[in-house]
Amino acid sequence: MKKIYWHHERFRIYQIKQLLDDHQIPNFIKNEFAIGAIGELSPLDAMPEVWLTDDAWQDKASKLIDQFNLEPENTQSWVCDKCHEENEGSFALCWNCGNSVSTIASEN
Ligand SMILES: [Zn+2]
Repeated sequence: MKKIYWHHERFRIYQIKQLLDDHQIPNFIKNEFAIGAIGELSPLDAMPEVWLTDDAWQDKASKLIDQFNLEPENTQSWVCDKCHEENEGSFALCWNCGNSVSTIASEN
């Protein structure tokens, strides 16, 4: 078993778990509920962790996690393919004509 990722924000842990699950990499979460049980532990000891069941997945898992962490969080603007207006990355639909950004992504 191998600890592959840890973070004090539990939603990050779930994102990484989901990422590994999506790639059929066996994994589990440790300290998932540690936040409520801190007491004598230092916050660092109690941080939720993602572990690999099998060390053989380590290379693949760390590459996936690196890529995942590098992805910008919807900050890139996009241009509508219907009306050619520019939209902010946080918009899922064109502000001008309501065209969906996902149709653009699937055509690429
Ligand atoms: Zn548009």
